[in-house]
Amino acid sequence: MAKFIFVTGGVVSSLGKGITAASIGRLLISRGLRIRMLKMDPYLNVDPGTMSPYQHGEVYVTDDGVETDLDLGHYERFTGQPTSRKSSVTSGRIYWDVLQKERRGDYLGHTIQMIPHITDEIKSRVRALAEPEVDVVVTEIGGTVGDIEGLTFLEAIRQIGLEEGRDNVMYIHMTYLPFIRAAGELKTKPSQQSVAKLREIGIIPDVLVCRSETPLTEDIRRKLSLFCNVPLHAVIEEIDVRHTIYEVPLVLAEQGLDEIIMVHFRLARPGAKLGPWKTMVDAIVHPEGTVKIGVVGKYSELQDAYKSLHEALRHGGAAHRQSVQIVQISAEAFESGQIPDEARQMDGLLVPGGFGKRGTEGKIAAIRYARENGIPFFGICLGLQCAVIEYARHVCGLEGAHSTEIDPATPHPVVCLMEEQEKVVDLGGSMRLGAWPCVLRKGSAAARAYGADQISERHRHRYEVNNRYRPQLEAKGLVLSGLSPDGHLVEMVEVPAHPWFVAVQFHPELKSQPLLPHPLFRDFIGAALKRRG
Ligand code: GLN
Repeated sequence: MAKFIFVTGGVVSSLGKGITAASIGRLLISRGLRIRMLKMDPYLNVDPGTMSPYQHGEVYVTDDGVETDLDLGHYERFTGQPTSRKSSVTSGRIYWDVLQKERRGDYLGHTIQMIPHITDEIKSRVRALAEPEVDVVVTEIGGTVGDIEGLTFLEAIRQIGLEEGRDNVMYIHMTYLPFIRAAGELKTKPSQQSVAKLREIGIIPDVLVCRSETPLTEDIRRKLSLFCNVPLHAVIEEIDVRHTIYEVPLVLAEQGLDEIIMVHFRLARPGAKLGPWKTMVDAIVHPEGTVKIGVVGKYSELQDAYKSLHEALRHGGAAHRQSVQIVQISAEAFESGQIPDEARQMDGLLVPGGFGKRGTEGKIAAIRYARENGIPFFGICLGLQCAVIEYARHVCGLEGAHSTEIDPATPHPVVCLMEEQEKVVDLGGSMRLGAWPCVLRKGSAAARAYGADQISERHRHRYEVNNRYRPQLEAKGLVLSGLSPDGHLVEMVEVPAHPWFVAVQFHPELKSQPLLPHPLFRDFIGAALKRRG
């Protein structure tokens, strides 16, 4: 029988609940347990696929092609386990499914209510992950305790506690202790109030994970324990980590969080095996040098918009014991015809995925600069499309070459809509999504990186390289180094007479893990390191 852990958050958002839930997952795995992770988001969107990166950060795509919350990226990176459509649920999805059942008449004329119909649907989503081979299901509830939208989720997880027995269910509440400078101390009142809110619903937390900027004193711990009704040893401090988020599992393990969980569930397992994790953290904390990578994108001011990308770059750096300084360079800075000074100082340039017109000319200019000057270049999704446009214009002489996404009237549509995409009406969940196989060309930089001739990577796009232009691009030396197995889709291109110029139609960053850096990111950073010297 599977056990259930629920992670809730209080006081403020952006506490790093996803990282904490993922870290708990890592600790359980290091104890030899088989786990599943689940994110429940109380907002009404059916999935985050249509949400702006400005509002919601990156959209993370699973192997089975679902557009999900970026926390699933943390889950995969920390636990090494792939997530799936079962791992991400929103209120919108729950209501959608309940209302469809109602329309079908599945409820046999009953009045449909929050309790039990919505809560039952939520519970069935949690239990769907408790397959026979699973020991623990870790569920993170998005949002903050006290949000109106989150109430049904909290009610549902309270019911699970009753139904499964409190020995089989654990509630871990994450809170924030503000440091009030004038008083010179950390304040516990907001935490007390958020726990009071939880208790009102009938949930008594078993563990309190406290984010703070400074260490918790013994006094503060006692106060939290007393007022929040949590045993003293279960008041866990999660102080802002200094170097990397991958320290969090170690910080929690030091305070015995995995042991607290084992005792609560009465599970006998040997101590946590965290050796490889510690070695990886050590490589990140003690780098031998720094590689500078310029990311030429549209959302330059947003950390969360390129979450997986930034992590993958850091993993690639750690593979060489290098830290990676990621410099966001606004694509528009290249549009004046000048190369911005900061771009000249980079050891490598990367153009990430994106949508829409803004910044594309700048991205194309940045790619030209990298190609003509032997600067290691990595293009991802829109980055590949821009690289093909750049090659078509400046090497093949196809003036005005473009993607029909940006210029529908272009004389040379070197990037165009896939046939099946032309019929699409709804924007949600209708792109080419999820994992697709790709065959690599022997002897290419791609094949060298992967050390394989067939790979699988995740996609999220509508447009593709136009096959009509393949002969012209190849005649001028562009190598189509990755194709779909039927040969119809260009998935990777590279410029062979260049230190490292690789572009991919998929999103390799989604599969990079700190313990298993992605081969393309590893080799891109390797090439940048060589250039730096
Ligand atoms: N806008 C492009 C497309 O839809 C690229 C998408 C992306 O970079 N994720 O094909």
